[in-house]
Amino acid sequence: MGEPYDGLILGTGHNALVLHAYLARCGLRVLSLDRAAVAGGGLATEENPRLPGFRHNTHSFFHRALTAMPWYRDLELERHGARYVEPELNVALILPDGRSLQWWTDLDRTADSFAEFSRKDASALRRWVEKFRPIVEQILIPEAQSPPLPPDQRRTFLERSPLGRRLLEVAERSPLEFVQQEFEHDVIRAGLLFFNGLREIDLRLRGFGHAIPALLAGRHKAQMCVGGSAKLAEALVVDIREHGGEVRLGVGLKAILVRQGRAVGVELANGERIEVRAFVASGLNPQQTFLKLLDADAAPRAVREQAAKFQYNLIAPLFALNLALREPLRYKAAEQRPELNDAFMVILGLERLEQFHQIVAAHEQGQIPPTVMWGACPTLFDSNQAPPGRHTAFMWEKLPYALHGNPAEWDKEKEAHGRALLDLWSRFAPNLADGAVLDWFARSPLDTERQLPNMHHGDLLVGSFAQQQIGYNRPFPGAGQYRTPVDGLYLCGGSTHPGGNITGLCGYNAARVIAADLGLHLWWQPPDIEAILAAL
Ligand SMILES: Cc1cc2nc3c(=O)[nH]c(=O)nc-3n(C[C@H](O)[C@H](O)[C@H](O)COP(=O)(O)OP(=O)(O)OC[C@H]3O[C@@H](n4cnc5c(N)ncnc54)[C@H](O)[C@@H]3O)c2cc1C
Repeated sequence: MGEPYDGLILGTGHNALVLHAYLARCGLRVLSLDRAAVAGGGLATEENPRLPGFRHNTHSFFHRALTAMPWYRDLELERHGARYVEPELNVALILPDGRSLQWWTDLDRTADSFAEFSRKDASALRRWVEKFRPIVEQILIPEAQSPPLPPDQRRTFLERSPLGRRLLEVAERSPLEFVQQEFEHDVIRAGLLFFNGLREIDLRLRGFGHAIPALLAGRHKAQMCVGGSAKLAEALVVDIREHGGEVRLGVGLKAILVRQGRAVGVELANGERIEVRAFVASGLNPQQTFLKLLDADAAPRAVREQAAKFQYNLIAPLFALNLALREPLRYKAAEQRPELNDAFMVILGLERLEQFHQIVAAHEQGQIPPTVMWGACPTLFDSNQAPPGRHTAFMWEKLPYALHGNPAEWDKEKEAHGRALLDLWSRFAPNLADGAVLDWFARSPLDTERQLPNMHHGDLLVGSFAQQQIGYNRPFPGAGQYRTPVDGLYLCGGSTHPGGNITGLCGYNAARVIAADLGLHLWWQPPDIEAILAAL
């Protein structure tokens, strides 16, 4: 037996890996455990088993503002092989009549595209970017990079400054009210709500009116990892190992061991017990952590009840169609606008705000809504993801987990739906029907849950952003600052603040809390959120 570990981390999603890397650099001896054969969770790039050399990003692909994340710099991930690109024509919404709404990394070009639909909306875009940029940079980014403050304390700070008051005022609306009040053209309204949808916030929910202007005002747009999303996970693992950390894969977890009210280790499915000196951190969801892995008497009943009530997003699950291609996509609309063949994220099937109501209603009924899809052709920007001259592409669609009331239906309908999606895509990109497709495969919301069980019901954000599950109260009151009611047990996955998606900030914030509890010197400089808000 070697030296006992200081800590254990459950799961190797990117948040767990970020946490591990920070603590390993503090000098702690930490072990990460995962049921999967490869580390990274949602950072997955799989080789096509039928066509070697074609690499598909089967979970996350669009990594927003990733290179601006503090951990990307602190952990020297470029030294470990990570590299990102941020394509200029960042998003294009292509309409059936060939027109397109375009978001560029350059605001002027985006405003020009908005102006083709509505000059008034182009001005509104510029106004909101200008109004919100200081809010994003001075409030929202530091808040995302810090353990959340209690809501009353936060509000008191924000009410003291004009910037804070502006944020609170806009936040009072719902995203739907925001676009209806501030923008006039239906295509622009639909496009803006689509971005809101990507964050999975219920567009009818008051309290989130700031979500869209915040996305518009962010300096960095969608980015992709060269070599595939898995490269980011590989770089994190390199850093962990360089600093003495260990990662064990393919292990089943049976229980979190608790002694005298304190988490002291885990028992694996094979009966092996691993004890630690200082902490256990879970990158899994609250039900897995508090109900499956903890004995009923290890946490107070109220905590188990709160964990049981943790909610998941109804409209987060994705259906994915992945293609291996002989040649890149050639969009019909590009005959008039050649730049569209070089667009990064392409949205198809979206034309009207009304479609969002149809999508929500279909999810509530377990039905397939009229198709709105979005995706990319990664090999346009990174030829390493396919053999020379060949390409990959994918489209995603938001579809209900419980299809016709039963998720198992997906295994029967997956192929047919994938084919239908391909047919629809071919209407926009006719070469898909003309021999460009070498191979394709689909993944359903049920497949997501099978592969990543923490994404309960296929919720890729690992928990909804309903009011009671955000900030200080995410995942639930009493466990909202990465600490839990069980001593020595912490949370660090997407079900904590600031939530799912590839941000790494759940792990980044958890590192600071755990290091502080263990009395460790912080080798990095996280923002001091109270001082920042007090100085606004
Ligand atoms: C199809 C799809 C597309 C997506 N696209 C994007 C995108 O473009 N941009 C974006 O930002 N986000 C995207 N996401 C969401 C993003 O992947 C997740 O929000 C993010 O990965 C959550 O990170 P995490 O750190 O919480 O852990 P996860 O990435 O969820 O990883 C959890 C880890 O825990 C392990 N685990 C789970 N249960 C157990 C268990 N019982 N025992 C042991 N180990 C376990 C899993 O194997 C996994 O390694 C997408 C997700 C999916 C499914």
